[in-house]
Amino acid sequence: MAIKRVLTYGEPSLREPSKEVHKVSKKISDLIRDLFDTMYSQNGVGLAAPQIGVNLRVFVIDASTKEEPLEPMVFINPKIIKKSGAIKSNEGCLSFPEAYSDVVRYKDVMIKAINEHGKPFVMEVKGGNLLARAIQHENDHLDGILFIDHCLNRFETEEVLKKYNLPDIDPEKLLDESELKEQI
Ligand code: ZN
Repeated sequence: MAIKRVLTYGEPSLREPSKEVHKVSKKISDLIRDLFDTMYSQNGVGLAAPQIGVNLRVFVIDASTKEEPLEPMVFINPKIIKKSGAIKSNEGCLSFPEAYSDVVRYKDVMIKAINEHGKPFVMEVKGGNLLARAIQHENDHLDGILFIDHCLNRFETEEVLKKYNLPDIDPEKLLDESELKEQI
C-alpha cells in the first residue's frame, strides 16, 4: 500500500485515545498494510495506528530477531488481561526520533485481540522479551500514553528530549508506577 508519515511527539493524534474497530473491513486491511510498510521502512519493531494519524485501536509488531524468529503480528481491539513482574529496559519509539529512555514494564503479559482475519486470539508472552515490551508499548499508544510517561528518571529523559529538539515531558502524564519500580 503506502509508506505514511510517522507523527512526531507533540502532534495531537499521539495523545488522543483511539476508537474500537467494529469490522475488519477493506479500510482496516489497507491500514494494516500501511502500518507494516511504514514500520519496515523505518526499521521499527512495532507501529500503532495513531502514529500515522489514524485513531483506531490497531497496532502491528514484528519482534523477530536472529535468535528468535517470529511472524509479523496484528492486534485489533487489544486488551491486556494479565500482567506481572517488572523489567527495566531502554526503549525508543518511531515518534521520538533518536531519543531513548529507561522505562519499566511488566515482564509477563497476556493479551487478547482480533487478528487481521477478524479472528479473536489470546497470547501469553513471558520473560520481558522484546515482544512482551512491544505489546505494552504499542497498546499504550491506543490510549494516548507514550513511553516517556513510564520513564524511570525524569531528569535524564528530559535531557534526552531536549537534545533531540522534542517537546518537554508533560508532568501530568507521568504515571505512578511505584509498585512496579520497587520490583526492579
Ligand atoms: Zn511508540
